[in-house]
Amino acid sequence: MLTSIDLATLRLCSVLASVTFTVIFLSLWRGRKDERHNLLWAASLLLYCVALAGLEWINRPQDVLIRSLLVAALTASNIPLVAGVRLFAGRTLWRWWMAVPPAVTLAGFLLPQALGQFAIVMPPHSEQLLAAIGLATGMGVFGADMIRQAGRAVPDGYGGRIAGGAMLAYMPCYVFAIAGEVLHFATPSTLAVAALLSDQLLLMLLNVGLLAMPAEAAFAAMRERAWRDGLTGVHNRAWLAGVHDEFLKTGTWLAHIDIDHFKAINDRFGHAAGDGTLTALARALVLATAESGLQSGAKVVRMGGDEFLVIMPNASLLTAQALVRHVRTAINCIGPFDWTVSIGLTEVAAQDTSLADAVERADQQLYAAKLAGRDRVAA
Ligand code: GH3
Ligand code: MG
Repeated sequence: MLTSIDLATLRLCSVLASVTFTVIFLSLWRGRKDERHNLLWAASLLLYCVALAGLEWINRPQDVLIRSLLVAALTASNIPLVAGVRLFAGRTLWRWWMAVPPAVTLAGFLLPQALGQFAIVMPPHSEQLLAAIGLATGMGVFGADMIRQAGRAVPDGYGGRIAGGAMLAYMPCYVFAIAGEVLHFATPSTLAVAALLSDQLLLMLLNVGLLAMPAEAAFAAMRERAWRDGLTGVHNRAWLAGVHDEFLKTGTWLAHIDIDHFKAINDRFGHAAGDGTLTALARALVLATAESGLQSGAKVVRMGGDEFLVIMPNASLLTAQALVRHVRTAINCIGPFDWTVSIGLTEVAAQDTSLADAVERADQQLYAAKLAGRDRVAA
């Protein structure tokens, strides 16, 4: 079946698909000139197109240098591809090891010719085998780096992983081609058709993955903004609503904090001073989570107005009290006027069915602290 597919047509399909994605990436770059990763991805595809179109030369055994350069260019086309992802992740664009796969490909192609000068005859098809090893190494190295950098740029994203995974998936295709050559289970043209067919599939996966990556990053940034309080920068109630069972276990302590007579601060010193007090309290809470021996994972949430919640996973009464101590000491030093907070402390209980149950209990404790005269902790 494979032999009935025309190699030139398949090459044309790969070129056309690459041109389409080149146009897409160039258009995206024209729209947003600062997103230079699109330019690098377009450059990569153009180089790939040129190399693929030029591979017609490969049928002319006399043009060894051109053939080797074209195959090396095919491998090198992955450099701007990965550089784009690295740029996106805020990493150095160029690393020395990027030159290795094209160099190996080039050497692989030229070695049999060079040895031929010394009357050393390499086994048949060794030229294709060495070149395929170079190409496969390139896909492995670049694919692995792409997955690593994409993970840095968009930790929860799939686009970069799909793109990098597609590059890695080229490797078994090359191994199949190598094995086919060595074990003679298919003719060279059948193997070339198989390689180009897998190229059709993987090229799509690769480029659609790349297209998805900035969209995922933009979505993650927007979601992060939507989950942050605009004034203080700590988490907001919308974030808390999205939190499900991860904090619903004993050992998680909650501190519900409310500024005493905050309305009076606004009334006496103005709304801007009130805002400054809220920001200072948020900062003190974040600092206190770091200073009171809490393991990472403690969260500060602005519940609204002058109310904050600190979630302390894997904590104890002692660490919760340490946090409270740090907060109260910190706000004693924040001027220019004196102000205090009331705090309700509670631990998530085994019978709580949702975090809201524990938050409700912390709120009751806070209310008790207010009733008892404010500027105190109730637990
Ligand atoms: P209590 O000791 O009982 O808590 O008294 P309080 O005056 O603090 O009462 P309450 O907590 O109900 O007051 C909250 C006030 O916070 C009411 C509102 O005007 C003010 N407020 C809410 N959001 C903001 C904000 O973003 N900035 C400022 N400056 N004030 C805010
Ligand atoms: Mg208050």
